[in-house]
Amino acid sequence: MKIARMTIHSVALPFRLGRYTFSGEREMDGADSTVICLETDCGLRGYGEVCPAGAFYIPQNPEAARACLALLGPKIMGLDPREIGVVNTAMSKAVSGHDYAKAPIDMACWDLLGQATGQPVHRLLGGRRAESVPAHRAIAFGAPEEAVATLEAHRARGFRHFQLKAGCGVKADIARISAVADALGEDEVLCVDANGAWTFHEAMLILRGTGERDFILEEPCARYETNRSVRLHTNLPMKLDESIDDLRSLLKAQEDQTADIVSIKLSKFGGLTGARLVRDLCERLGMVMNIECVFGSEITSSAVAHLAISTAPRHLLNASHYGDYFDASLGEGSARVEGGRIVVDDRPGLGLRIDEAALGPPLMSFGAEARPRRAASGRGAAVGEEA
Ligand SMILES: [Mg+2]
Repeated sequence: MKIARMTIHSVALPFRLGRYTFSGEREMDGADSTVICLETDCGLRGYGEVCPAGAFYIPQNPEAARACLALLGPKIMGLDPREIGVVNTAMSKAVSGHDYAKAPIDMACWDLLGQATGQPVHRLLGGRRAESVPAHRAIAFGAPEEAVATLEAHRARGFRHFQLKAGCGVKADIARISAVADALGEDEVLCVDANGAWTFHEAMLILRGTGERDFILEEPCARYETNRSVRLHTNLPMKLDESIDDLRSLLKAQEDQTADIVSIKLSKFGGLTGARLVRDLCERLGMVMNIECVFGSEITSSAVAHLAISTAPRHLLNASHYGDYFDASLGEGSARVEGGRIVVDDRPGLGLRIDEAALGPPLMSFGAEARPRRAASGRGAAVGEEA
């Protein structure tokens, strides 16, 4: 089996609930997702995606992802997508760094490996470890009563894990955190995520102002060293997200005992291959994880879910699913949220049924023209000719 063609698509994903605001006066009306389709010489199609939060969140941006993919495309033509290590080596030789831009190709190769072998990706990543995993749901900026109302709305849909965005001023943060923490039920989990917006002294004031309330403190300050100082001044558990972006930072956070929980965003680690490595390392080191990405469509939500469902439950805090964030759909994934938990089916690969019309025409394509398409059974009946 060889990669015969790659198409690159830019897909606008408008937020269902309107403008999304988080710390640092960062605002988005939607996300600019990049989807790739790898087509093989036997007609199987694998999909991958990278969907940054604009260009201002972490060192990822949609335009740069597509520029890198334009360099990577010609280098992977003719490779066997089932040999994912070979594909990753070819990508490393072609482009140094920019792991997030390589993530969609890596993801599409896992999708194809699963389809070619007739196995769901979660089985290839270690096997199903649970029937479902907890999904967490973000609560964006707003007044304390609005935040509590949002929590109650999420709770009514079954969610028990909440992530309150913080970083809108010391007094406002104390009021919002206190209101939401006081509204929590016995079995509910709250992360307070400042996305690195607090200075050290603001973190100290906010921790003092919220008293003995229980929550997980997430990425309070912008620098790892400052977060470490905050951790030494609180007995609240700390989750690190933005400041964990490679193996070195993960190992340092574990050795320093700065991070009790880490966020594993697939794109930061170059897709499922790198994220699985970090996941396995976290399990061995006894760390707890949240598995997610930045944003994404059904493609990213499925990839996240396959990794999460194959993770030892005692090491998994929760995972993300972006199904109801956006007012757009690219088709059907293999993961869905039911009663606040993510369930994943056993269809081969990532189990995607992509609506190619929703992808729109490709921005760029590499390799041969499309061939007749095959079903994802590994034995593959032709299901039609593509235009
Ligand atoms: Mg975070």
